[in-house]
Amino acid sequence: MTYNHFADIILPFAVKGIFTYRIPEELSESIVPGIRVLVQFGSKKLYSGIVCKIHGDSPSGIKLRSIISALDSSPVTNEIQLKFWSWISEYYMCSIGEVMKAALPSDLCLEGVASVPVVEKYKPKEETFIKLAAGFSESELNTILDKLARAPAQAKILTEYLRLSDYAGVKESKPVRKSILMKQSGSSPGIIDALIRKKIFLPFSLETRRLTDTESPAEPLKELSTIQITALNEISDLFKEKDVVLLHGVTSSGKTEIYIHLIEEQLKKQKQVLYLLPEIAVTAQIIQRLRRHFGQITGIFHSRFNDAEKVEIWNRVSEEDTEKRYSLIIGVRSAIFLPFRNLGLIIIDEEQDGSYKQHDPAPRYNARDSAIVLAGMHKANTILGSASPSIESYNNAVIQKYGLAELNERYGQVRLPEIIVANLREAYRKKLMVSHFTPELLEAMDEALGKNEQIILFQNRRGFSPYIECPECGWIPKCVQCAVNLTYHKGISRMVCHYCGYSTGIPAQCPNCHSTGLITRGFGTEKVEDEIKIVFPAARVARMDQDTTKGKNSFEKLIRAFEERQSDILIGTQMISKGLDFENLTVVGVLNADNLLNFPDFRAHERSFQLMEQVSGRAGRRQKPGKVIIQTFDPGNRIIRLVLHHDFKNMFRIQAEERKAFNYPPFCRMIKITIKHKDRSLLNIWADILGRDLKSVFGGRVLGPEFPLISQIQLWYIKTILIKLEREKPVVPAKHTIMEAIERVEKEKGASSLKIAVDVDPY
Ligand code: ADP
Ligand code: ZN
Ligand code: ZN
Repeated sequence: MTYNHFADIILPFAVKGIFTYRIPEELSESIVPGIRVLVQFGSKKLYSGIVCKIHGDSPSGIKLRSIISALDSSPVTNEIQLKFWSWISEYYMCSIGEVMKAALPSDLCLEGVASVPVVEKYKPKEETFIKLAAGFSESELNTILDKLARAPAQAKILTEYLRLSDYAGVKESKPVRKSILMKQSGSSPGIIDALIRKKIFLPFSLETRRLTDTESPAEPLKELSTIQITALNEISDLFKEKDVVLLHGVTSSGKTEIYIHLIEEQLKKQKQVLYLLPEIAVTAQIIQRLRRHFGQITGIFHSRFNDAEKVEIWNRVSEEDTEKRYSLIIGVRSAIFLPFRNLGLIIIDEEQDGSYKQHDPAPRYNARDSAIVLAGMHKANTILGSASPSIESYNNAVIQKYGLAELNERYGQVRLPEIIVANLREAYRKKLMVSHFTPELLEAMDEALGKNEQIILFQNRRGFSPYIECPECGWIPKCVQCAVNLTYHKGISRMVCHYCGYSTGIPAQCPNCHSTGLITRGFGTEKVEDEIKIVFPAARVARMDQDTTKGKNSFEKLIRAFEERQSDILIGTQMISKGLDFENLTVVGVLNADNLLNFPDFRAHERSFQLMEQVSGRAGRRQKPGKVIIQTFDPGNRIIRLVLHHDFKNMFRIQAEERKAFNYPPFCRMIKITIKHKDRSLLNIWADILGRDLKSVFGGRVLGPEFPLISQIQLWYIKTILIKLEREKPVVPAKHTIMEAIERVEKEKGASSLKIAVDVDPY
């Protein structure tokens, strides 16, 4: 019999393309697309790769290596996944190997040198169980126990086993975990071994799950209100014509309840649902809500799981047995890579959120946009949900590429919170500021604390972290490897670089002028926490930011503590703006809105609006009315005026006009090239060469090269080139041209210590 002699294999690295290997005859049966195989690449290294195709066309002129072995007996990836990887690699201009690396749990990716045998990293967790070696009858057991009279420890453990296993004299005895048997009888493994040698006990191993399932009966779905029903019906109608629907619903309008109904519908059809969330910070609450209805079949996927756990989730998503399969997956952006069998719906909550975009390393994908493509491959629908959609998604709704459904009221006649703009300039001038708080915020906080209600204070860290300055000469400590100020961390009494992690102690004096009066400027969450303790000594304060949420369950703990009213005031960064739902929270304070607004980025205004809308959405979600205080030096600011009236539509209109006028997305495509070199002048030379090459084809569509805001990170100097392409023109040929230009530069002599990265849709 003949067989296909060749296999195309994806290997986990940045080299472009797929690689053909010979299938040795003895493996001809076992090599199928989707399994992992072990191959040699280069002179020594062994890799595991994924077989994507088997064929009989001998590539001419090259000597092919043979596959060393098959690592799986059945595929770990399916056809749609491979197709999806290939789409990501083409659209985001990276190698398919880089996509594979991002997609597969790293325990499934092997890499090693030939001399060291590669060991499979993922091992199912096994546990030893004990059962009786034969179907002993009651009288046989009595005889055995008599014989054990002189070994009381053995007799004891046997009786303990009989008790634990509810011995009933049946043929097949019930297994008992060895660890439990040992614990209950208070004996050692040696004694169990003795009984095994006497052929009384029989040990065996069973694979057990690392992931614990919660078992509780499913709660019935909540009944929807009239306007919720209308929206739900609208969505179903829209899905008849459009694959994607944008659900624009004000905060607390019940978008999540609508998702729950949509999920239920899919599950009834035996379809899988992917529920994407921007960050794990908000998953804890949502997971609880969804598990209440859907129980066991709900899987969760985020980066804080260890690799072995990720492999188990992977396996349960692709599980054949529908009883064991995860039908609902709640996850962050990388969950799009799970091996779904039959997706019916993808929900993308807070679709505007920046954390759906992966900036580094490649693949630099946007999980929202990729998920829409993935849904298309499964012939599934996508619902995008938001209280303040991104300009690009709303524009897609306006041009009727997406369907649009709206919810304009909060659930249960709860009013949107009252928004108060507090003028920082005036408060400072009139000397009315107490620490970082305007009289308006102080009053609101006082009132809430008096009624035992809770408060959230939002302080954006970006560009506003505390740093140290010499008041005499203006010296500010900077990172030794990056072009950024070091951030002062009072808790650990050090200065830390937030880009590379470099840290150093606080100098006793200014190295420049030897003054000893160094002062701190700016204020981060930590500083706010300190000062609250002075202004409101009786209040209990908690803080949620990158520093306080490092542990695996730290988010959940902080959120639960706040839910259980163990603290009165929660201070936080972005993290606290998203999706949280606290019954007793009535006051939200935005400590400084200007920082958001003045950030030099074309999306700064859109993002500020979204963020303020979102944080204020946390206030007064139930019967108690909410109040939001926005502190700013610029109370007349257009965006703040729009937030004041929750006026999304005008915000969209103004932003869309501006972007059209200045040619920004979504009205153009943007591709960013980042070039790095450790030598500044060599960087300049190479960046100019690449820039000129690109300009010769794209002309004025090429901006730069220039130094970005942060022009050096970890000793690498950075320059960027931005290319703006027309939406209407085909983008594939342009991407090829760009890739060719980059490859030309990379091939030049002396360009080997240059790093070039491409980012498609870098916003
Ligand atoms: P959103 O996702 O739009 O912010 P949620 O779905 O979180 O809104 O709803 C806000 C609050 O109102 C939640 O506590 C939710 O349980 C409650 N809620 C919304 N719709 C209903 C409903 N139909 N029946 C009961 N409670 C509801
Ligand atoms: Zn640094
Ligand atoms: Zn000085």
